Amino acid sequence: MKPSPALEYHQRPGRPGKTAIQVTKPCSTAAELSLAYTPGVAEPVRAIAANPQEAALYTNRSNLVGVVSNGSAVLGLGNQGALASKPVMEGKAVLFKRFADVDVFDIELNTSDPEEIIRTVELMEPTFGGINLEDIKAPECFYIEQELKRRCSIPIFHDDQHGTAIITAAGIINALQLTGRSFAGTRVVVNGAGAAAVACSDILLSLGITSGNLLMLDSKGVLHTGREDLNAIKQRFARETPARTLADALTDADVFVGVSVAGVLTTDMLNSMAASPIVFAMANPDPEITYPAAKAARSDVVMATGRSDYPNQINNVLGFPFIFRGALDVQASAISEGMKLAAAHALAELAREPVPAEVAAAYDGQEFRYGPEYLVPKPFDPRVMEWVSTAVARAATEEGIARVPMHDWDAYRDSLRK
Ligand code: NAP
Ligand code: MG
Repeated sequence: MKPSPALEYHQRPGRPGKTAIQVTKPCSTAAELSLAYTPGVAEPVRAIAANPQEAALYTNRSNLVGVVSNGSAVLGLGNQGALASKPVMEGKAVLFKRFADVDVFDIELNTSDPEEIIRTVELMEPTFGGINLEDIKAPECFYIEQELKRRCSIPIFHDDQHGTAIITAAGIINALQLTGRSFAGTRVVVNGAGAAAVACSDILLSLGITSGNLLMLDSKGVLHTGREDLNAIKQRFARETPARTLADALTDADVFVGVSVAGVLTTDMLNSMAASPIVFAMANPDPEITYPAAKAARSDVVMATGRSDYPNQINNVLGFPFIFRGALDVQASAISEGMKLAAAHALAELAREPVPAEVAAAYDGQEFRYGPEYLVPKPFDPRVMEWVSTAVARAATEEGIARVPMHDWDAYRDSLRK
């Protein structure tokens, strides 16, 4: 029997899997060999030992990200274990490289113990310019990230949380603008209380949604102050409210952010929302309500999903490659809240610009124009790197967390233009 297209792709002749190491310096003569390795290599060793900053000059570190997972929350498939997560982490490496020329070592760790993950990544800090945590389950992912940020002085970024939050924020900024809403007056319901939900809520609160106007739900309903089963993270989002169910919470709400499971948003619930409701139904592969069902119920809905076959795909690839590109280029010691907000604003602003013909060409001639059906840029838009990486590098420089601060932003932007 023929293998499926995906299995065939992964095992295509040449080499199994999707990545390999590429050598960047010549090594075909005895002289070059003695530069690449001993005795020549002793010189950069001594230089780096004397001044660690020089690792950026003589090694691959400043363009190298570790994509680290234990396979405990792989895509929507749940705990698949470290080994089975490897195709996903290699895939992440492909996207980093393809979209932003960032090199990746994928690291799959065979443990479910947060302390082992933290210690292992901490020990690997000399290898990498940054760490992308991936597909590690909630609530452990919160502690692992927080602890690594405390212990390491390179960017630590859990993409399932912050990548999702940044692209969602960009879409919501524009959806609010298009429907004439202000952050302060907008009522948000976040369905789900996992990795993506917590990060999406945090970024929306930093953008100006008021705490009293954001209700979160987990699989048992609204997080309210009367609940005694909430962990510390969920407690942060518990509100004093009479609402108990999703239907209660959504009555007159302006925004639904779904990062939960398929099919939980009914048309009755959608009909109970405010005028021009904003629905980001991002459960993958099947959203909380489908695009056609939502549009059929309410023609005034502004809708985004995680899917590529409907408008407004909230796709993390719009974020992580370019965020790391910007952070690495100024050798940032972290990815701060300011850098995340800068990335979200850059994406939102880019979506408002006219879209060049080459983008339409990459999408079978489809035309894109800022509006309810085009809230965020498309991944194959070559301007995304310029906009996002520049915004991120600039925010790092302005916050004083760039080891190599940059000042000529026009030149940097030009250097990113392909
Ligand atoms: P997660 O950490 O496992 O969290 C899932 C959350 O959903 C949990 O808090 C769970 O509640 C809650 N939940 C389950 N059933 C529910 C229900 N009927 N009503 C309300 N909440 C319910 O997963 P995640 O990484 O945050 O991802 C969640 C979903 O978003 C997945 O479908 C994922 O594919 C999707 N996602 C999409 C994008 C994107 O489109 N760009 C990005 C990230 C995630 P308990 O806490 O009670 O278990
Ligand atoms: Mg992921």
